[in-house]
Amino acid sequence: MKITSNKQLILKFYTTGKNKNIEELYINDFDNFYQKYEVGNIIVSLLNSYNDIIQILDKYIRKIDKSTPLTLAELIKVFKNLIKNLETKKFYIISKLLEINFNKLRYRIENIEKYDLLADKEYNKFQGNILGTPEIYIRKRGFPNYAFKNFLLRFKRSFSNAKNIVEKNFNIDNNRDTNIPLKYELPKMFVEYFDNNLSYTYYITSITDLLLASTYNLHLSKKFILKCEYCGDLFIPKTNKKEQKYCYSKDEYGNYICRNKGRKNIWYRNKAQSNKSN
Ligand SMILES: [Zn+2]
Repeated sequence: MKITSNKQLILKFYTTGKNKNIEELYINDFDNFYQKYEVGNIIVSLLNSYNDIIQILDKYIRKIDKSTPLTLAELIKVFKNLIKNLETKKFYIISKLLEINFNKLRYRIENIEKYDLLADKEYNKFQGNILGTPEIYIRKRGFPNYAFKNFLLRFKRSFSNAKNIVEKNFNIDNNRDTNIPLKYELPKMFVEYFDNNLSYTYYITSITDLLLASTYNLHLSKKFILKCEYCGDLFIPKTNKKEQKYCYSKDEYGNYICRNKGRKNIWYRNKAQSNKSN
């Protein structure tokens, strides 16, 4: 008997009613994870912390590269440590997505150890050179390391792909090929009518699915994302105007940092230019 996992993230988006433009994120089985966001904030918060998240993942990739072959129990310890690391920085969405997918990996490794040694593609690839030898059913040490490294690399790759899609979608990337139409598949989704209210529910297991679904919701809300001209962070303009230049980050006194500093820079630049031409 195989052990499996059905954990998923659920993203619910309301287009009407008192929760209009709200996204809820929770897990399908008993878990105390529940978050509520104004539409677009999931995308903005994930992409603005992109570099910090990648840095943490890279640290664990290096760690696993240097490590001696781990048992599954030891691997779980390393993984829990990674989750703790992410949650200290408040990267809860990332930690939940990793947990959901790690559960699958963990069951795969368990199944490989106990049952279907040959049914797993990645394991076959890892075994490579010992295929065809009588030791074929002997678990080769090092597979948990190998599989975990691939797991983190895959996650990084899909995060980076999804980031590119979102940036192209809102014309905020530096790539000039903006005339290529974007086509992508949304994750499994249900539309729900209740009491004249309409909502969408998506079943999500990957960062790509989450960012694509959320991007679609943002379009449904007729909102968009801009890049701050001062700090480079993404933000959703409250005025819904494309001309807005600066994000809303505030200093400890409640003043808008980027608007003030950005305008000051422009003032100095103009002054320098008019001095030159005089
Ligand atoms: Zn800014």
